[in-house]
Amino acid sequence: MQTVGIIGAGIMGAGIAQTVASKGMDVVLTDISLEIAEKGKAGIAKGLARLVAKEKMTQADADALLARITPVGDYAAMAGCDLIIEAATEREDIKARIFEAAGKVLGANAIMASNTSSIPITRMASGSPDPARFCGLHFFNPVPVMGLVEVIPGLATSQDTIDRMKAFGERLGKTVVLAGDAPGFVVNRILCPMLNEAIFVLGEGLGSVEDIDAGCRIGLNHPMGPLTLCDFVGLDTLYEIMKVFHATTGDPKYRPAPLLQKYVEAGWYGRKTGKGFYDYSGEKPVPTR
Ligand code: NAD
Repeated sequence: MQTVGIIGAGIMGAGIAQTVASKGMDVVLTDISLEIAEKGKAGIAKGLARLVAKEKMTQADADALLARITPVGDYAAMAGCDLIIEAATEREDIKARIFEAAGKVLGANAIMASNTSSIPITRMASGSPDPARFCGLHFFNPVPVMGLVEVIPGLATSQDTIDRMKAFGERLGKTVVLAGDAPGFVVNRILCPMLNEAIFVLGEGLGSVEDIDAGCRIGLNHPMGPLTLCDFVGLDTLYEIMKVFHATTGDPKYRPAPLLQKYVEAGWYGRKTGKGFYDYSGEKPVPTR
């Protein structure tokens, strides 16, 4: 694996790009436009500058890492990639269009992977050029920090693809777990209903934002409260995930919390828009409710 294409330069795409480049591989990074791909790279540069300022990284290493990331405006440059990772918005229609377009340039031996949080891999693989070379590759946020990758084979994914994805995850320094192909796989199947439930609890007035977060942080020994985590993940992403769970299984226990829907409709997506369960415009996050 020497060159990796990444489609989507948001929270996850940028994080994956940084992590891959930090291990000496070249990255071709795209989004809906060259400008947004460049913005993704600029965000990585900002994060690296903070690491250099804290003396956690040398300027030379930061420069070398950034030089390995090439933002592009279309898929042509991905023809030479050994692996293309899709990390675009959590919407199946968007991803389907990406697999169709990027599939046209996918090399004969290259793998196409999706970083989806919830959408069944087998379903998406059927719209890719070769379902045997299609796989779920689920990273965790923030990617440079979190130590886990889930590898999710679809029904037709070949053993060779699984082996190469496991080796790739390990080369990134991550622990790799194999997960089955059902909405949310393993970790999000457990996490997302819990986050959604925290929003139900808030909506029912059973606790304040701060008390729900402190309760889980201290009472469950979680590193951060669920509403803080929702803001990190992105409420738009969580909402799409819960809709996939609900629609795919038909099980009402997965219906998105009404308050989650309301926040998304207000454009309060969490950290990425500056406001979610907390307002991030000041020095310290302040609950919005
Ligand atoms: P994000 O909103 O930060 O970024 C999504 C990016 O996709 C945006 O830059 C957007 O412009 C781009 N995009 C939209 N349509 C596109 C297209 N047609 N072609 C190319 N790019 C396009 O979202 P994110 O949090 O980075 O999530 C990306 C994927 O990663 C989703 O599938 C999400 O479920 C998954 N994921 C998210 C998290 C998390 O904690 N946020 C964790 C694991 C996996």
